[in-house]
Amino acid sequence: MIPFLDLKAINQQYEKELKDACARVIDSGWYIMGNELSAFEQEFAQYCGTKHSIGVANGLDALTLTLRAWKEMGKIKDGDEVIVQANTYIASVLAITENNLTPVLVEPDVDTYNLSPEGIKAAITPKTKVILPVHLYGQISPMVEIMQIAKEHNLLVLEDCAQSHGAMIDGKKSGAWGDAAAFSFYPGKNLGALGDAGAITTNDSELANVILALRNYGSSERYKNVYCGVNSRLDEIQAAMLSVKLKYLDAEISHRRKISEIYKNGITNRNINVPKTVKECEHVWHLFVVQCNRRDDLARYLEDNGVHTLIHYPTPIHKQVAYSGLFDVNLPITEHLSETIISLPISPVMSFDSALRVVNLVNDFD
Ligand SMILES: *Cc1c(COP(=O)(O)O)cnc(C)c1O
Repeated sequence: MIPFLDLKAINQQYEKELKDACARVIDSGWYIMGNELSAFEQEFAQYCGTKHSIGVANGLDALTLTLRAWKEMGKIKDGDEVIVQANTYIASVLAITENNLTPVLVEPDVDTYNLSPEGIKAAITPKTKVILPVHLYGQISPMVEIMQIAKEHNLLVLEDCAQSHGAMIDGKKSGAWGDAAAFSFYPGKNLGALGDAGAITTNDSELANVILALRNYGSSERYKNVYCGVNSRLDEIQAAMLSVKLKYLDAEISHRRKISEIYKNGITNRNINVPKTVKECEHVWHLFVVQCNRRDDLARYLEDNGVHTLIHYPTPIHKQVAYSGLFDVNLPITEHLSETIISLPISPVMSFDSALRVVNLVNDFD
């Protein structure tokens, strides 16, 4: 059996270091907002190349609290429009609606699955205030063009980096391009904790201070509450786990790239479209997503032959029951993608032999 993602095997690579770090926190007697969090925040900011990194409870909170902070700062208000790609995970859009902002779902580029500059420009109205590019599946969006559009139209940019830790354009990492960026460290992400965790990166010190208060009941000084904040803290044990795993992130990305090469060079079945990359260094291969018109047959065939696959994502956001009545939109590209995409196994512990076995099976599918 080739699993989609073997989390146990991923973490067992660092078993001793993780257990030592965990023991260090247990023995310290300090479990929330301590040295482990500050250390990880510094290391992660340095990794991304930003002035600040602020740990929070999860990726959804990282997105939600950034938009909330811009509201508290008077930069955006209820009803303002946020441009986001329609084929993203629902968290990107929940953060928008949770803040009483209006999501404007934009069709992705069919080759990269990301927002295109043309798509963004066509969606801008006088109410647009934010562009929220999701670096989907691990490939960074066209950030040079996006930042240029933002500048011309005076818009804020919030990157959703939940799938793109370490992806870059010309050496500048995802998370360092926008006005702010949100990361998830859900266990299955490229940088995964051993529980829930997330972070925001930014170079804006004023924004960082507002988020620091919001994540801790709206308070930066004990028992003085400036905002009606929330409890969204990244605990010491998860921060310690993340500090261990951050050291190995680049090595894990390079293993993922090798698997992706085996897939891209090996898959020759004409019924299957492999993903297109703009430039190799931009992609960190969180997911390897191919398109196939007989997707459900392919998934069943691979399952029958011991290969587990997933679909990211089978129901587009505008078709979700949770949003029934909200979106009156026609999104044929997004709908077609949801019916034809399938994610092949890829991970830092997947063997090259397993990848070759997947290639052979996929090529034999007809
Ligand atoms: C995983 C994910 C999130 C949410 O992260 P959580 O830590 O699960 O809250 C947000 N956006 C995208 C694109 C994701 O893949």
